[in-house]
Amino acid sequence: MNILVINAGSSTLKCQLVDANKKASLMKALAEHIGSPDAVLTISGHKQISIKNASIDTALEHILEYLNDGQDSPIHSLSDINASGHRIVSGGEYFTESVLVDEEVIRKVDLCSELAPLHNPNAVICIRACQKLFPRIPQALVFDTTFHHTMPPKAYMYPLPMRYYTDYAIRRYGAHGTSHRYAAQQAANLIGRRITDLGIITCHLGNGGSIAAVSNGKSVDTTMGFTPLEGLMMGTRSGSIDPAIVTYIMRKENLSYKQMDDVLNRQSGLLGISGISSDMRTIIDAAHQGNKNAELAIDMYAYAVQKAIGAYFAVLNRVDAVVMTAGIGENSAELREIIFDRLAHLGMILDRQKNNMTSDLGSDRIVSIDDSPIKICIVTTDEELRIARETAALIESLNK
Ligand code: ADP
Repeated sequence: MNILVINAGSSTLKCQLVDANKKASLMKALAEHIGSPDAVLTISGHKQISIKNASIDTALEHILEYLNDGQDSPIHSLSDINASGHRIVSGGEYFTESVLVDEEVIRKVDLCSELAPLHNPNAVICIRACQKLFPRIPQALVFDTTFHHTMPPKAYMYPLPMRYYTDYAIRRYGAHGTSHRYAAQQAANLIGRRITDLGIITCHLGNGGSIAAVSNGKSVDTTMGFTPLEGLMMGTRSGSIDPAIVTYIMRKENLSYKQMDDVLNRQSGLLGISGISSDMRTIIDAAHQGNKNAELAIDMYAYAVQKAIGAYFAVLNRVDAVVMTAGIGENSAELREIIFDRLAHLGMILDRQKNNMTSDLGSDRIVSIDDSPIKICIVTTDEELRIARETAALIESLNK
C-alpha cells in the first residue's frame, strides 16, 4: 500500500511516499520558505526546484506533478497512490483517534486552528488540495494530540477560573503524540514485555521537546500543555516559566502580545541562554571551546529533562523504562550521560560504553547496564513513517 504522507508546517511542507507493507520510503520531498521568494523544493535529497513565492498548495501540486510525470519518480502515475495521511498538530477535544476525512472532520480541524494557528490552516489547505487532485483516494488524519486524550482531568486541567475551560477549552493537550506512542511501544518490544504491563517515561528531545508518562500503554501526563510552549526548555522556546514574568516584561518594555509571543517562542530556550544558536550541536561545540553561556544552556536543558523525569517517576506507580528519542535524545551521547548521571539514584543506570556506541548502530537499543532496575532505551523516530503506518492500519481496519 503506497501512502503519501503530508506534514504541513508553518513555512515548510514535508511529503513522503511510503510503501507501508515494506515500511520503505520511496520518495521524500521538502518545500522550504513557502510563500517567500526563496521558496525551494528538494526532492529525495538531491533534486532542487525553485518554486518562488509558491503557496503551500502550489508546493504540493509540484510534488504531485513530479510523482506523476517525473523521470525518476518511483511510481508510474498518481493512481499508484492508495491513500494519503496528514499530520495534524491539534485535534483539540474533538479527536481521540486517527480518522478518515469528511466534511465534518475538516470543519473540526479548522475549528482547532485557534490552538495551532501556524499549522492547522495549512493542513486544511493540503487536505482540500488532495480532494481536488485525487478525489478518489481516502485521506487519513493523524493527530499530535490524540495519544494524550487518556490524561485524567487532574493532569489536563489548569488551576484557572473554570470558565476558561468551558468557554475557550483551555486545558493541556500535549503534543508529539505519535512519537510518544511509538517510543513507548518500541521500548516494550526492546524489553520483551507487553506495553499493557509497563510504566514508561518517553522523552522526545528535538528542536521542540516533550516528555510523557505512559502507564500501561496510555499517556497519563505530558509536559507540553495548551500550546507547545509549556514544559521543557527547547531550541528557541522558553518552556515553563513563572507566568508573572510575561506581564512584567510586557509592562517594562511596553511589548505587544505578539512581540512577547515572539520572545517566548523564538528568542528563548537554548538560543536565548547561549546567545549563539538553537542547535544543540553548535552549543555543545561552543561549550567544548569554553563558552560559559553554552555550558549554562546545556546544564539548564539537562536539568529541565531531569526534573520532568523525576516528576513522572513520582506520577507513575511503576517505571520500567525511560526512552530517549528525536534529534537530541537519539544522537547526543553527551546529553544522555549528563542527564542519567543525575538520575542513577532513581535506578536509571547508564552503561557508558553502550551509550557511546552511536550512529553506526543507528537502531533501537537499550543503553542501561544489564541489571539497571529501570531500562534506558534509545528509539529512532521517523514521523512520516509512523503516520504512514497509522494511515495503513486505519484503512485496513475499515476494510475488514
Ligand atoms: P525537529 O523537532 O525539528 O524534528 P530534530 O528531532 O531533528 O528536530 O532535532 C533537532 C535537534 O537535534 C537539534 O538541536 C540538533 O542539534 C540536535 N542533534 C542532532 N544530532 C545531534 C548530535 N549528534 N548531537 C547533539 N545534538 C544533535
